[in-house]
Amino acid sequence: MKILIAADMEGVTGVVHWDHVTPGHQEYPRFRHLMTGDVNAAIRGAFEAGADEVVVTDGHDDGRNILIEELDPRARLNAGRPSPLAMVQGTDAGVNAVIFVGYHARVGTPHAILEHTWSSRCVAGLWLNGQPMGEIGLNAAVCGHFDVPVVMVSGDECACAEAAELLGSIETAVVKRATGRMAAECLPPEETQAAIYSSAAQAVSCLRAGDAPPPFRPQTPINIAVEFVHSEMADRAMILPSLSRPEGKRIEFVADDAPTAYRLFQAAVSLAGD
Ligand SMILES: [Zn+2]
Repeated sequence: MKILIAADMEGVTGVVHWDHVTPGHQEYPRFRHLMTGDVNAAIRGAFEAGADEVVVTDGHDDGRNILIEELDPRARLNAGRPSPLAMVQGTDAGVNAVIFVGYHARVGTPHAILEHTWSSRCVAGLWLNGQPMGEIGLNAAVCGHFDVPVVMVSGDECACAEAAELLGSIETAVVKRATGRMAAECLPPEETQAAIYSSAAQAVSCLRAGDAPPPFRPQTPINIAVEFVHSEMADRAMILPSLSRPEGKRIEFVADDAPTAYRLFQAAVSLAGD
């Protein structure tokens, strides 16, 4: 049994500000340590419940956040960007299930810590087949393409609720309850890491018992719409062929499958000026 832990940073224990997740800021090193702690708790849970192999993908920013010197030595680490499958790199390599650690709610969610979708500077909204979608759904769809279910998520209360609503009965570990985009009641690491450990163990136990939620497989071909913050961002994204422009700040395209949609979305946002 092989488990992929896909880690982001905004939903890590204690994070409430961009300074906490921005390389170069003086507070960032503390939160790298905390991110590694949350990931280690999920690794311990997965092995405890019978996983044979655990691979971790560092999905935040440039993928250079997790401290490998503090990582559980039984795991391996996908670090650095760009990589072919970005935040879920490795999900196509014989993985049985994915665990999301440190995830956050989609852009526009009220009372959700650092809510955004891929780029807080560029993206004002993302829709997949007409349904509002954030990084949880987008990454889960890429995993689903390879028949891999997402079985657990950790993050703030909103991220966990978003995942449960979209993906079904997955295990969740709430590490903070936000009262605004940049304010939350945070549980200390001793508490959160115990919760992450037991949720991960429970998720992998259910998987072994044949009781995991199904992979998230949106209908194909996939229609993607992106609303940018400013119209010149859409102007730049339109350099990509095969995009349409229904409104000034909005682009749309159709992709054969989720990984293709994922790549086109990243390309559009990158051109837009992320
Ligand atoms: Zn992030």
